[in-house]
Amino acid sequence: MILFKKINDLRKYIDVQHQLKKSIGFVPTMGALHEGHLSLIRSSLSIADITVCSIFVNPTQFNDPTDFEKYPVTLEADIGLLEASGCQVLFLPSVKEIYPGGIPQSGHYDLGYLETVLEGRFRPGHFQGVCTVVDRLLGIVCPDHLFLGQKDYQQCMVIARLVELSGKTGEINIHICPTLREADGLAMSSRNRRLSSSQRQQSVAIYRVLTGIREGLRPGELKPLRLEAVGKLKEAGLAPEYIEIAEAGNLQILEEWDGASKLVALVAAFMGEVRLIDNILLN
Ligand code: AMP
Repeated sequence: MILFKKINDLRKYIDVQHQLKKSIGFVPTMGALHEGHLSLIRSSLSIADITVCSIFVNPTQFNDPTDFEKYPVTLEADIGLLEASGCQVLFLPSVKEIYPGGIPQSGHYDLGYLETVLEGRFRPGHFQGVCTVVDRLLGIVCPDHLFLGQKDYQQCMVIARLVELSGKTGEINIHICPTLREADGLAMSSRNRRLSSSQRQQSVAIYRVLTGIREGLRPGELKPLRLEAVGKLKEAGLAPEYIEIAEAGNLQILEEWDGASKLVALVAAFMGEVRLIDNILLN
C-alpha cells in the first residue's frame, strides 16, 4: 500500500492511473477502522482497479468540540488493517493540507430540506462540514466509484446531492453499502470504542428498538410505534435525540403510513457522552 500525505503527490499518482485507464474507487473515512469500513474497502476492491482510502478527522463536521477531541485515533492499527485488506492507497492528509487557508467557518451548499431534519436539525452545520471536506477530497481523488455506508443514511443522500450540485453525477458512481453489525445487532461504529462494557451492552437496545418498529409496522398512525420506541430506549438508559419513521427515498417524516411507500426508521441517541446513530429499512 502506498501512503500519501501530500495532495500533490497523490494527484500525480492519480493522473498516472487515469492515463493507464485504471478506475479509481474511493472510501473516505475518519479512521478508527472497523469491519464496516473494511466492507466498503472490499466492495471497492471488487469493482475498481485502484482503491483509495482516506483517513481524515474533519474538524468542520463536528458541531460538538468534545466529540472532536475524543474522536478515537488508532492510526497504526488502521494502517495494518488496510495493508491486510489489499487496499492500494491510503491518503492521510493533515488539517493544514486540506485547509491551507485555515479551517472554513461554514459551507455554502444548498442541501435544502435534507439539512432541516434529523441529523441536519440536531447537528447544525454538520452537513455543511461534511460537504466541505468531501467536495475537497473528490476534487483531489477524482474517483470513478465512491463507497458510502448506509449506517449514515442521511449522509449518503447529502453526498449524492453534493455530487449533483458539483455537476459530477455522470462521473461518479455512488455505491451504498449495507450496515455491518456486531453479533448482537449493534451497528459497528468508531464511537463504540468510547463505550464502557455496560454501556456497550445497553446500546444494543437501539437495534432492538429498530427491529421492533419493523415488526410492529402496520398501515395507519405511526405515533404509538414511535412513542413505544422512545420509551424502550429510555428504559435501556439511552437518551434519544430523535427516532423517526420517514420515506426511504426523500426522508420526509411520516406520522401515518399508507401501507405502500418504502420506509426507513432512524435513531440518534446518547449513551452517556457518546452519540450513536442507526437506521433500518422497514419494508
Ligand atoms: P466514518 O469513518 O464514520 O466517517 O465512516 C466512513 C464510512 O464508513 C462512511 O461511509 C460510513 O457510512 C461507513 N460506515 C461506518 N460504519 C459502518 C458500518 N457499521 N457498516 C458499513 N459502513 C459503515
